[in-house]
Amino acid sequence: MHAASQIKIGISSCLLGEPVRFDSGHKKNAYITGVLNDYFEFVPFCPEVAIGLGIPRETIRLVSIDNAVRCVGTKNTDLDVTKKLDDVAEEQRHWHDDLSGYIVKKDSPSCGMERVKIYSKGAPNRKGIGIYAKRLMDNYPFLPVEEEGRLENAQLRENFIHRVYIYSRWKNMCAEDFSISGLQQFHAKHKYILMSHNQQQARALGALLANSNGDELNALADQYLHSLMAILKIIATKKNHVNTLQHLQGYLKTNIDADDKAELNAVIADYRNGLLPLIVPITLLRHHFRKYPNEYITQSYYMAPHPGELMLLNDI
Ligand code: SF4
Repeated sequence: MHAASQIKIGISSCLLGEPVRFDSGHKKNAYITGVLNDYFEFVPFCPEVAIGLGIPRETIRLVSIDNAVRCVGTKNTDLDVTKKLDDVAEEQRHWHDDLSGYIVKKDSPSCGMERVKIYSKGAPNRKGIGIYAKRLMDNYPFLPVEEEGRLENAQLRENFIHRVYIYSRWKNMCAEDFSISGLQQFHAKHKYILMSHNQQQARALGALLANSNGDELNALADQYLHSLMAILKIIATKKNHVNTLQHLQGYLKTNIDADDKAELNAVIADYRNGLLPLIVPITLLRHHFRKYPNEYITQSYYMAPHPGELMLLNDI
């Protein structure tokens, strides 16, 4: 068990094992309840129960009616809960405001994030978004949102959790030091993480801040956050991690001897070739930077992520 986190993540109640589904069942997810639960404070919510559909209840689904997507009863098509599900999402803003992420149940006409079936006269298409989830994502376009099924993929999981931590740190920065220097410090701490996602875009984002004198701070912060979260959505590749590791290695070139350099090169090469997880070259770099500290590198989250982020590096 790790220290309790203040980072709040909203979640479809059924994923925590609450018996709120149409058939009084649940969809308890072992990874969420067994691992992520140690790092985050989950805030469960079932929109269908919240709008009074009851347990058990008739199933609902998305249908295309006159070019509009409606959420109606599977048997009783007069039961149209589209507006109720949209309204109930709007009504939850008072706690949604505090979230740094949201995990939703896939395929649900209420909670699904993408690829939810929309029925029409022919075969259903997979272009739907759950009504509650859509309002949530429209209200909070930068909030990291992910489905439980996609969390089984190590890269997608790592990507989502990184976004949660970074979004949380962004919110803290905005609350504690919303200034041009606060923004620049935030960027300095995340620069190498951003580089591991996309080097060109990370540099452009740095230039955006460097070339600003702090005028129009709100507009600048909006633009920065928009680009930040877009870059973070790009899956970090091995190639970009290797470039980032080599960049960090460059800070040590006058400090470490030939043997240490060769060892570091070998470990980075083994990571590149899939023989070692990312945590190994990072641990070795951290060891050298402990001996030869560099102020800029010490503050970087790439080298010293939160324990919750660190555990993920074992997988990639
Ligand atoms: S509405 Fe959402 S939380 Fe409720 S049972 Fe369906 S998927 Fe789970």
